[in-house]
Amino acid sequence: MATPPQRPGFPARIDLGRGGTTPPARAAAPRPAPVRAAVTGDGLPVVPAAASTVRDSIPARARMVQQLMAEGISDPLVLRAMGTVDRHHFVDGALVPQAYEDTALPIGLGQTISKPSVVARMLELLMQGGLRGDNGKLGRVLDIGTGCGYQAVVMGQICEEVYSIERLRDLHEKARANLRPMRIANVHLILGDGMAGFAKGAPYAGIVAAAGGEAVPDAWIDQLAYGGRIVAPVAAAPGQQALIVIDKSRQGIRQTVLEAVNFVPLKSGVA
Ligand code: SAH
Repeated sequence: MATPPQRPGFPARIDLGRGGTTPPARAAAPRPAPVRAAVTGDGLPVVPAAASTVRDSIPARARMVQQLMAEGISDPLVLRAMGTVDRHHFVDGALVPQAYEDTALPIGLGQTISKPSVVARMLELLMQGGLRGDNGKLGRVLDIGTGCGYQAVVMGQICEEVYSIERLRDLHEKARANLRPMRIANVHLILGDGMAGFAKGAPYAGIVAAAGGEAVPDAWIDQLAYGGRIVAPVAAAPGQQALIVIDKSRQGIRQTVLEAVNFVPLKSGVA
């Protein structure tokens, strides 16, 4: 059973001026002594765990954005959102040094936070759907597979309203704990089976899935607005997944198959 979306009672939005989504209390803390960032083999700075403050993650995020641009991500809103959200806030302490590397990281229960390049690619595709507003943002969107909540928060920067659904109770709670101090009013976390979509929020300008099944469930297509777009991994050949884009118009559905991807499986039911 899906629970109703939580609407926090505070209207505060992410304060971009602080350079991230880390809670204000942490942002206001005295600045620690500067820590020299190590550099990985591929040139990425590694932020030591002890230095995981907002200020110290700024260069790492900027470097990540440079990499995303080099890989062809060009949407200014997507790049700005990726450069704003503290990915290290969503991973366990021991993994903080890897938070800005382009790698998927474990978040518990056999699930992973997606690679930054994959998040950016999917969100850029989502944004290229037909329903951006005058401010460049999408309206209401559905995020299937909240996981730790990272992508939902990034989406909250580029969409007016995000409904993010997770089937694993522990991860839903973890995401809720991750988001609580951020005081984000436009991201709603739901515990439920995303295979059924989330009808209460429909119609959606966009739907994005971080878990791949045999096919895109009909519910997602039903709950997509005309002009809207779905971006999701689906089974291609046995043991393989491809990223697909589905555009819905009054004339029908158009599906485009893109590159091979590797997402966790889309499963049914709440656990
Ligand atoms: N976007 C996430 C990625 C999490 S991995 C992040 O930023 O961390 C994908 C998630 O999809 C997993 O947490 C998995 O439990 C979830 N998932 C799989 N099938 C699902 C379903 N039917 N409904 C909701 N969530 C599902």
